[in-house]
Amino acid sequence: MLKSTDTFNLRGDPALFVGGDWIEADDREEIELINPATEDVIGLVPVATARDVKAAISAADAAFRSWRGTLPITRSNILRKAATIMRENAEGMAQTLSREQGKIIAEARLEVQTVADLFDWFAEECRRSYGRVVESRVEGVKLHVVQEPVGPVAAFCTWNFPGLVPARKIGAAVAAGCSIVVKAAEETPGTAVHIVQALEAAGLPAGVVNLLFGNPAEISTILVDAPEIRMITLTGSTRVGKLLAKQAAATMKPAIFELGGHNPVIVFEDADIEKAVAHSAAAKFRNAGQVCLAPDRFFVHEDVHDAFVDRMVEYASELAVGEGVKDGIHMGALTNRARLDEVTRLVDNAVAKGAKLCFGGARIGNRGYFYSPTVLTDVPDEADIMQIEPFGPVAPVQKFRSLDDAIARSNSLRFGLASYVFSSSIQKIDETAAALEAGLVGANTCAVSHHEGPLGGVKESGYGREGSIEGLRAYQITKLVAHNVLS
Ligand code: NAD
Repeated sequence: MLKSTDTFNLRGDPALFVGGDWIEADDREEIELINPATEDVIGLVPVATARDVKAAISAADAAFRSWRGTLPITRSNILRKAATIMRENAEGMAQTLSREQGKIIAEARLEVQTVADLFDWFAEECRRSYGRVVESRVEGVKLHVVQEPVGPVAAFCTWNFPGLVPARKIGAAVAAGCSIVVKAAEETPGTAVHIVQALEAAGLPAGVVNLLFGNPAEISTILVDAPEIRMITLTGSTRVGKLLAKQAAATMKPAIFELGGHNPVIVFEDADIEKAVAHSAAAKFRNAGQVCLAPDRFFVHEDVHDAFVDRMVEYASELAVGEGVKDGIHMGALTNRARLDEVTRLVDNAVAKGAKLCFGGARIGNRGYFYSPTVLTDVPDEADIMQIEPFGPVAPVQKFRSLDDAIARSNSLRFGLASYVFSSSIQKIDETAAALEAGLVGANTCAVSHHEGPLGGVKESGYGREGSIEGLRAYQITKLVAHNVLS
């Protein structure tokens, strides 16, 4: 067992963090850490044992008892200091992130910056978490409505934003006065390790944040069932969301589920096509399409369909695909072999069912999980890609005629995360935004993720919100104290 040190370790080597101690593999099992651009093994991730998970729960439970009573200004200062430490180590964090996840270094740098900004944002927000005093209808009785931390939290994180996904959960928990056990993604452990190291170096008491990797189903079963754990948060697939929702319901734990989507983009005939392509193609091919908010289906009015597709193809053909850490690259590798296989299957399935391949449609090279940016048109509704989130660099385009038709198609699936609309008519935007079944709507933009705004879905894209005041409130309970001041 390694003792934690006072110095911030730049290396971000995979390790567990339980009760303030860094734990290396010793005689535990290990998972190979693969660089998706080269398929080289670049590290080994220790697998937490059931004992480690239980130790993390006990540590979080013990830490919560004192952490909940800290002044908001103390929590704020620690978050702010951790943000500063991350900024000082930003390049090392970005290199780790890009090497493990595959995204280009520019996107990795932006993500690290965003994580630091998010900690700053929570450092501010937690200082202004007010309750209220309400006059009751009984003489002499004052109603005090207070916000308290919900308790130790269990968090599960996907690999597509290895910094931002854990940071949204850790930042909110620490700010609210909760402790947290994070099961981060085994594919991309280094960035989560860096974040926890930054918090440790900033003076966060032992046990407030604990970090695990290992067998997801085994770890989640222990964590979600544990009576000490008072809240669950998952960013991941709808499939796993449903599993954890059932488990959480068994012990009445509140939860946030940030799950998958199948995000439509509606491009009306009066849209600025140059801008519509610039926004939606950038959002589509960022992180090789492995973004929960990425456009998944394009519905383009028949009058502008061909012009839109020509510009999309031009955009896709200009993207240099390669190893994310190298200069001059616009799109990196998919993060794992399973994604490469699924994207390949979805495109092949669409083409077999009659879709027209306008650009791309194949793996690039035979080493590294690279897939070409791809544009498909005339995609039939029966193609799997029109129902299953591609989570890859594929843009399926369909024509539409009327506003009602576009809205009906957009709302036809069981998902409701993000939707996008491009038009120069304020009326059309208002009407469409009101009708879309989604947690987020982008009008003439695909940038809907902001620290200041609530992020989350409807329908099978989940429930609960992250970021914004809703994201802090989710980690608090509302307690009423009825105080008889006359007695
Ligand atoms: P996933 O559901 O397979 O994994 C997410 C997390 O759950 C990981 O920590 C994983 O180890 C864990 N997990 C996996 N199987 C589990 C099980 N049986 N029991 C308990 N935990 C388990 O998701 P993924 O494939 O890693 O991520 C991709 C999905 O995440 C996409 O659908 C994407 O849209 C979604 N996502 C959503 C948001 C959002 O904010 N709504 C953000 C990013 C990604």
